[in-house]
Amino acid sequence: MNAINMEHHWLPFTNNRMFREEPQIFARAEGVRYWTPEGQEIMDAASGLFCCPAGHARREIADAIHAQVMELDYTTHFQRAAPNSFRLATRLAELLPAGLNRIFFGSSGSEAVDSAMKICLAYHRARGQGQRTRFVSRNWAYHGVNLGGTSLAGMVNNRRDFSGATSDVVHMRHTWSDEQRFSLGQPETGADLADDLEEICKTYGAETIAGVFVEPIAGSVGVILPPQGYLQRLRAIADKYGLLLIFDEVITGFGRTGSAFAAQEFGVTPDLMTMAKALTNGTVPMSAVAVRTDIQQTVIDAAEGDRPELFHGYTYSAHPVACAAALASLDIYRDHGLFERAKALSPVFLDALHSLRNLPHVFDIRGYGMMGAVQLTPGAKPGMKGSLVQRLLFREGLHLKATGDALIIAPAFVTGEDDLARMIEILRRVLGRAD
Ligand code: PLP
Repeated sequence: MNAINMEHHWLPFTNNRMFREEPQIFARAEGVRYWTPEGQEIMDAASGLFCCPAGHARREIADAIHAQVMELDYTTHFQRAAPNSFRLATRLAELLPAGLNRIFFGSSGSEAVDSAMKICLAYHRARGQGQRTRFVSRNWAYHGVNLGGTSLAGMVNNRRDFSGATSDVVHMRHTWSDEQRFSLGQPETGADLADDLEEICKTYGAETIAGVFVEPIAGSVGVILPPQGYLQRLRAIADKYGLLLIFDEVITGFGRTGSAFAAQEFGVTPDLMTMAKALTNGTVPMSAVAVRTDIQQTVIDAAEGDRPELFHGYTYSAHPVACAAALASLDIYRDHGLFERAKALSPVFLDALHSLRNLPHVFDIRGYGMMGAVQLTPGAKPGMKGSLVQRLLFREGLHLKATGDALIIAPAFVTGEDDLARMIEILRRVLGRAD
């Protein structure tokens, strides 16, 4: 292969200096495998980045994208529309919990989060409560990197350099505790951590708070589970004080927990939900915000004359090609029973992950559905071990995500048990080295 000039592309969330010293490049993908330009096989234990539960290079999606480009490659959705966005919105409404059935489209999870924040503000203003401008989020939260999501973030590196531009967000405590180490399933204790929300309402005045954002399972920070009853308690407190509850399901959506959405898995329905990534099986950037019917109606009813009811939208909102990719992906999930497959494969996956517990460097193992994390004992520089081990794993033929000292594993739902075993064996081999 010709040498690649790497000077010009500024890689995101990457140490560019280190990357240029040891480039780790994917040239091709199929099923649950990537290949480097040199032809080395790398098992994909992260569905790319939680994006591709149906595996890579799905012919059905490629065909749908091609056909859509030739039929209608682009239209704006400002005062115009294409048929397939309505079809997609209807399909999503059918998959979502009852009542969450008004769909706003964007291109990334970050856009979905910021759109959801604006919809919350517009709703409160429409019902005469425009003073509700503050949000509540949680320590260790990740809600994308636009300024709204950066404000919600509970991860210090994602905020530190940008603090001058962030808005008013108050953080609840995260839900991890030492006593949960190596436990399976939702922690039995810790539901009372939701009472932080009530405390915040009392301290700041509930009438100043628009909504509370949580990832039902905090994904990017390393798969932190909600204690039993925790989400239910958040729901009750949000209702008591008139706050909107927003679930950020950018990772947990589309079967990752074994149900279509974590909301259904945990039996708690939010007022708004964000989703992205697996919506198109990762093929075309797309995200969505699902909104409760009456929230949209309130915003629509409050608008005067013929102005747009919500002054918000993107050039690529509901891009026809993204809609086609999403419809084809939803067909695959349905026709191949992939959410059910995720549920069935989960115990095998979690057992395999827990078989790593006695290896050196392993501090904790967590997981739910088809997402899990191995938390490493911090090294001399806490928070650096994950990316170090991530680089070693690539050399050994495994791709996963690392955050701080956590390795995050989220295989595609189509992963065979033999491939799953192969992924765990590579992890065992690398973690087994005592150095
Ligand atoms: N919200 C959550 C929960 C996420 O995990 C992510 C990305 O990982 C985002 C939002 C942002 O999505 P994107 O990177 O597509 O902007």
